[in-house]
Amino acid sequence: SRQFTRPLNDLANQFNTLLSAIAGAERVFEIIDEEPEEKESTKDKPISFDHLKGEVEFVQASFSYEKGGNTIRNISFHVQPGQTVAFVGPTGAGKTTIINLLSRFYDLDSGSLLIDGHEITSIKREELRKHMGFVLQDSFLFQGTVRENIRYGRLDATDQEIVEAAKLANAHSFIMKLSQGYDTVLTHGGSGISQGQKQLLSIARAILANPSLLILDEATSSIDTITELKIQEALERLMKGRTSFVIAHRLNTIQKADQIMVLEDGQIIEQGSHEELLQQQGFYHGLYHSQLREVM
Ligand code: ADP
Repeated sequence: SRQFTRPLNDLANQFNTLLSAIAGAERVFEIIDEEPEEKESTKDKPISFDHLKGEVEFVQASFSYEKGGNTIRNISFHVQPGQTVAFVGPTGAGKTTIINLLSRFYDLDSGSLLIDGHEITSIKREELRKHMGFVLQDSFLFQGTVRENIRYGRLDATDQEIVEAAKLANAHSFIMKLSQGYDTVLTHGGSGISQGQKQLLSIARAILANPSLLILDEATSSIDTITELKIQEALERLMKGRTSFVIAHRLNTIQKADQIMVLEDGQIIEQGSHEELLQQQGFYHGLYHSQLREVM
């Protein structure tokens, strides 16, 4: 059933709202950071990284959007640099919230979230997001050329680097078939190209950005088989050597993940690799044999 998970609503909404507001290719996060509702609180001296290894640890982390609630309860897990973590669980379980915390859209109520051993609250949002890449279901394309849309990943990238990123993302061949190639103007939202092609552009953009931490929200909408294979191959290239957090819908992705977090009601109810979780014969096992298979 399609209800199994849902898009990264918070992130996608924020991007879309912002992209309607800005015409050019300013960095979205710089603007998000100016929003007064989430004021920056940096407890310690702010840290900056030339290179982030991508080690992530949640320690007894709890968070709620509203006072007295408990959206995320006492979550602990440790991710080594380069690992892939897949989040699965029903709608409302807290998958997006964990991603929102990791992106520092919100700070924890209690517990710790450590990035390369540093409290996330000691890292400014702007700094953190220099090292993060996002490939979301609704990839945010703005009115501008294909080249500009890819360059958004790293504003000082050369044309050559853009083409190289597009090739690695399996996007080059479809771009070359567009009427003006890399100079083809996309509409806001990219209405002229397919859903799958939007994803390939968004992967090209992320490859160009070269982040240590990657956030992926896999598409649930059906994409033709050939494009789907191109996406999977491009994603594997993108994820290699980066710590990746995936809100996963594809069985293939989940099976390959180093760690699977099964969430329910804001708690991790099972945690391990695909084989480990199947052996436990618990919730994941049941999911795998019923719901999960339908979704894939
Ligand atoms: P999932 O991604 O697993 O579907 P979410 O992390 O989006 O789950 O949601 C977890 C819970 O937090 C749900 O009960 C949801 O309604 C609530 N929630 C999500 N975003 C907000 C928000 N911005 N404000 C208040 N509650 C929210």
